Amino acid sequence: MQSAIRINQFKEERLQLIEQLRMRGITDENVLSVMSDLPRELFVKDGFERRAYEDSALPIGLQQTISQPFTVAFMTQKLQLEYGEKILEIGTGSGYQAAVLAKLGMKVFTIERHFDLYRQARSILAEMGLTVSTRQGDGTIGWKDNAPYDAIIVTAGAPDVPNSLVMQLRIGGRMILPIGDEKSQMLTLVRRIDNEHYEGHNLGEFRFVPLVGKEGWADKK
Ligand code: SAH
Repeated sequence: MQSAIRINQFKEERLQLIEQLRMRGITDENVLSVMSDLPRELFVKDGFERRAYEDSALPIGLQQTISQPFTVAFMTQKLQLEYGEKILEIGTGSGYQAAVLAKLGMKVFTIERHFDLYRQARSILAEMGLTVSTRQGDGTIGWKDNAPYDAIIVTAGAPDVPNSLVMQLRIGGRMILPIGDEKSQMLTLVRRIDNEHYEGHNLGEFRFVPLVGKEGWADKK
């Protein structure tokens, strides 16, 4: 009973958020339905539960953030996923985006560079009964063992398209990633055309935390 009460605690707020997402142009009913069921308050830091249904990014520790709900919905919608596709996520963070993908019926692989975030996300995803393969490491070089992927979603801002990630997409596969400097990035949808070529489309300006790794930004520490 207790978990049922917990799930329903923010039902009203969750439905209001879904209405806001619709008004901002999210039309994918599968994405909206999954997000209307998913308790975002379980993915935010203690003390931030009451703000879980604001359409904003929130801190999750280690100077990282859970992405804004609109951004999660928008990126997921733009990938035009089909049931059962194999997806690689770079930047597990809170695990919320991975949970959305798993609930949509995707085979999800996700990589996080910070051990504490990886461990926390892994445990919450397991607690929710979601099957997601998690790993700690540098996601800019991908996860070769499970390649090729139908789609790759990068949830941190890159200086450029990491070549290793393109190489792990199947021909015709899609990747969505923010590209730019540290202040703001252009969300870009990439499609791998053949062995040597890919095309990219701009989807608008967004703001993400930096992608830090071999094919991303250098670690400042
Ligand atoms: N998808 C997340 C968003 C987290 S913010 C969510 O739904 O909550 C982006 C995350 O990317 C941060 O946790 C950051 O630590 C991580 N990150 C940055 N560079 C990375 C890299 N090279 N490999 C894996 N994770 C990385």
